[in-house]
Amino acid sequence: MLAMNYRGPYRVRADEKPMPTILHPEDAIVRVTRSCICGSDLHLYHGMVPDTRVGMTFGHEFCGIVEQVGPAIEHLKVGDHVLVPFNIACGRCHFCQQGLFGNCHESNAQATAVGGIFGYSHTAGGYDGGQAQYVRVPYADVGPTVIPDWMDPDDAVLLTDVVPTGYQAAEMGGITPGDTVAVFGAGPVGLMAAKAAWLFGAGRVIVFDEVDYRLEFARKFCPAEVYNFREIDDMAVFMKKQTDGLGADVCIDAVGGDANGNGAQWVLGKRLKLVAGNAIPLHWAINSVKKGGIVSIVGVYGPTGNIVPMGNVVNKGITIRANQASVKRLLPKLIEHVRTGVLKPSEMITHRVPLEDVADAYHIFWNKLDGCIKPVLLPNG
Ligand code: NAD
Ligand code: ZN
Repeated sequence: MLAMNYRGPYRVRADEKPMPTILHPEDAIVRVTRSCICGSDLHLYHGMVPDTRVGMTFGHEFCGIVEQVGPAIEHLKVGDHVLVPFNIACGRCHFCQQGLFGNCHESNAQATAVGGIFGYSHTAGGYDGGQAQYVRVPYADVGPTVIPDWMDPDDAVLLTDVVPTGYQAAEMGGITPGDTVAVFGAGPVGLMAAKAAWLFGAGRVIVFDEVDYRLEFARKFCPAEVYNFREIDDMAVFMKKQTDGLGADVCIDAVGGDANGNGAQWVLGKRLKLVAGNAIPLHWAINSVKKGGIVSIVGVYGPTGNIVPMGNVVNKGITIRANQASVKRLLPKLIEHVRTGVLKPSEMITHRVPLEDVADAYHIFWNKLDGCIKPVLLPNG
């Protein structure tokens, strides 16, 4: 089968790889119909995530047709069209039992923090992902969810990650009615966080980015007040001016480290080097939230992202909330929002690309070319 193949930082291509097989009674094999590239994949692409091995297939946002099921599978059958949450979760460990599917203990036993994630390095369990014609889905009775007949698969594929992640970012912000919510990053995650902020009763939603076409999209899609951060001298001062000297009630970091190639970079000899810009959105969020406010972080940070203004966190009494999204917990609510038309996530899809052209798709998405917001790979045509 054809699959995306990681060759090292900034080098990906489509290659023939062996078909995945059932390795465990709770596995399924899925024939992928749609598979997105995510801002999180860019961290892998940039070499920011530890233990990203050459030969891995990325892809944690996909849907597809169930091709084969293991003998222990009860809820799926061959031919079902399913959306597959990015978290690989056993459904029965201490964390899954609390709905913390992103922190599953069983799917990534060696990890201290994150659970298993499709196509996300050996730090997240070493599972191959769905930027491929076929993918092995472990614990297939837990995560995969049959796409309702009425749902556009383009909406469904975005329910595997960016919609629940944006929604959870807003939820973790503890937004109360009338709050001013600042969202850093107008990528698909930030766009969904800003949109979700209204569902929690925000009175004002402000989105920052440096890419003008994304800001323009945010202005209409979220909708939000938008600012290009390149035109702002001091983010904390700017936010105070916007809020009668108080600061934002809630700040959401939907950027993370290195989303734009600005953070950690691999340099000669695979040594990590810090370059200017690392963790800037997090500094901005902490510095421009009001006293007692909440900073909600869904942006992903690699090892070099540990440099944060912790003094301010303590002195301002800020609550920082952060996690990997728990997709399965949020799905019933989000599916209902799509059904009633409150959410139409597929409006973010700008590029539909055959798997053969995966290298171009990564290049375009990373460099923010051609109006790209969300690219979707079509591995089986
Ligand atoms: P993306 O790369 O498409 O978007 C990031 C945006 O941030 C870009 O438009 C970029 O121009 C902008 N940006 C860069 N520096 C900025 C700054 N200092 N201030 C404001 N904006 C800035 O990525 P995405 O798919 O939207 O994902 C965003 C982040 O969320 C990534 O770090 C990704 O890894 C993370 N993520 C986390 C989860 C989770 O479960 N926690 C899930 C999905 C994605
Ligand atoms: Zn993702």
